[in-house]
Amino acid sequence: MDIQKTILDLREELNLHNHNYYVEDKPTISDFEFDQKLKQLQDLEAQYPEYFDENSPSQRVGGTITKNFQTVVHENRMYSLDNSYSKEDLQDWEVKIQKVLGNVPLQYTCELKYDGASISITYENGKLSKAVTRGDGFQGDEVTNNIKTIRSIPLKLKGNYPQKFDIRGEIILPFEGFEKMNLDLIEIGETPYSNPRNTASGSLKLQDSAEVAKRPLDCLLYFITGNNLPFSTQFEGLETARNWGFKVPTQSKLANNLDEVFEFINYWDVHRHDLPYETDGVVIKVNDFNHQNELGYTAKSPRWAIAYKFKSEQVTTVLNSISYQVGRTGSITPVANLQPVQLAGTIVKRASLHNADQIEKLDIRVGDSVFVEKGGEIIPKIIGVAQRGNQLEPTKYISHCPECQTELVRKEGEANHFCPNFYGCPPQIIGRIQHYISRKAMDIEGLGGETVALLFNNNLVKDYSDLYELTVDQVIPLERMAQKSAENLVNGIEKSKEIPFERVLFALGIRYVGETVAKKLAKHYKTIDALSKASLMDLILVDEIGDRIAQSVIEFFENQNNSTIIARLKNFGVQFEIVEKHNPNATEKLLGKTFVVSGVFEQFSRDDLKKAIEDNGGKVGSSISAKTDYVVAGENMGPAKLDKANKLGISIISENDFINMLNES
Ligand code: AMP
Ligand code: ZN
Repeated sequence: MDIQKTILDLREELNLHNHNYYVEDKPTISDFEFDQKLKQLQDLEAQYPEYFDENSPSQRVGGTITKNFQTVVHENRMYSLDNSYSKEDLQDWEVKIQKVLGNVPLQYTCELKYDGASISITYENGKLSKAVTRGDGFQGDEVTNNIKTIRSIPLKLKGNYPQKFDIRGEIILPFEGFEKMNLDLIEIGETPYSNPRNTASGSLKLQDSAEVAKRPLDCLLYFITGNNLPFSTQFEGLETARNWGFKVPTQSKLANNLDEVFEFINYWDVHRHDLPYETDGVVIKVNDFNHQNELGYTAKSPRWAIAYKFKSEQVTTVLNSISYQVGRTGSITPVANLQPVQLAGTIVKRASLHNADQIEKLDIRVGDSVFVEKGGEIIPKIIGVAQRGNQLEPTKYISHCPECQTELVRKEGEANHFCPNFYGCPPQIIGRIQHYISRKAMDIEGLGGETVALLFNNNLVKDYSDLYELTVDQVIPLERMAQKSAENLVNGIEKSKEIPFERVLFALGIRYVGETVAKKLAKHYKTIDALSKASLMDLILVDEIGDRIAQSVIEFFENQNNSTIIARLKNFGVQFEIVEKHNPNATEKLLGKTFVVSGVFEQFSRDDLKKAIEDNGGKVGSSISAKTDYVVAGENMGPAKLDKANKLGISIISENDFINMLNES
């Protein structure tokens, strides 16, 4: 077998499937098959480092750390766009350009204006070579490693492309992915992101590209610049880019006059709300490059293009008061209470203010008349002061917790203040118990969030371990409770003792420990005792556990309160260990033998093979040493490994030999 060819074919195939899935939205193989092929490529690349390619689809998972992003000068400047807000503005613009061009027939390309972070990506010989943020338009930050993780951006092009060119576009976060990210944050007790655009733009500057790879970013492209381009109009440029493999939205239209431009605008002013991502206007571009060249640029923007900004639905109303909510982890969120007002079909009474900086930036004060806008997000936001009210002093952010009067703390680098009184602050206590009983956690039937608050307020519970001592008689007197519902509640709590350890660990509400992390930790440590004794270093060595999570776990177990609660839960019979499922095929045939697995196999994936070894009592070693008893060699086993095994006199067995070993009685 020709290894190099296999590797190249796999790369080609994976690139194609990536394109079908992320650009065309028409996958032709299952996710499972895709993962298998990717795994096969990764294994081969690991064995044959001589065929490394920085543009291999295996590189999409990221993993490079960039401490300082290099400043790079744009070969072609990244211009801004002039704005227009009305049809008259557009007519004025046409008059101005026709003065230069001499009243020629003009076509315009109409495109949507995607609201994200602009990016310029350089391709050389059909390969992605560099990606740079817009910066000040003259120079930006090189973020190539991060950009490569975005699956819809081709690493290799198809067709007849020029030797070198730049393509420009917007990095965006579609609503769905954005909301999913926020749900994940809420789950671990963190403050959600405020909007998709800032989150997309912040993602580009993350130091760890593996983190970027996890974010559901997308890239929409709209402009190619370079020498010897094989097209002479903007519209052809879009089509060509699409043919080379880029994701170029298909809504763009060629208009023969301004009326057709207006039609496009009118249509999308309404229908943009059906798009899966945020847009804030339309960009109108003179189609013909000859005309574009004649028109040229002002100091800031091309004369041949203009943005038309959609009016976002906006009203003014009075800010009645600001209240401060305390979350489960003590994080404080300021909320604006507004004079109720009709906006985009709903009555708005409240708006999110995010944090102290936001209030300071807007300089809003109680009594002000404020502009309220509804963008892509569900919660409306205040975008500025329309008219100052009577309050002369700027708003003073609270210094103490509104619920427990403890002095607030703001950690370096964090946007939100928080109340440090974790064990005495009612909304934090209630929030933690509500999290504990929630569906993804202990899933306690017959007990809801409001009842938790009642139980707390009636001094029946002060942490989640108290739940297990509740009696029917104690619960009946509560509002809306009766014999039956009280029994259900107590039974529901009793049943939660069967919930497996990984979910219990999630239910404890350790900061940053969401569902997935809880699973990882439970699987790795197997018991709460082992986890609680783990050192910082030990935790960080667990796959996908970073120092933020590790630190938080350490702090949780250092706390005496938590130890007491866990000890009580244990006494009540809550699961604090993984119960290993008994494998009916398990034997002890390989007891005392250490195996090293190398190469690619036909009947097993590598993981399955390792599992088969462990299920039958054997040990799996990571590298060949004097302690190794057998090397199970698949296809493409590395020559260095083979050499070493031979030198140490270790038996090298095939996949079939291994199967025979298991079948021997
Ligand atoms: P602004 O940031 O409001 O000055 O708008 C200019 C920016 O809009 C450009 O720098 C691009 O990043 C962005 N943009 C979004 N969609 C398009 C598009 N279809 N064509 C050109 N620019 C666009
Ligand atoms: Zn408090």
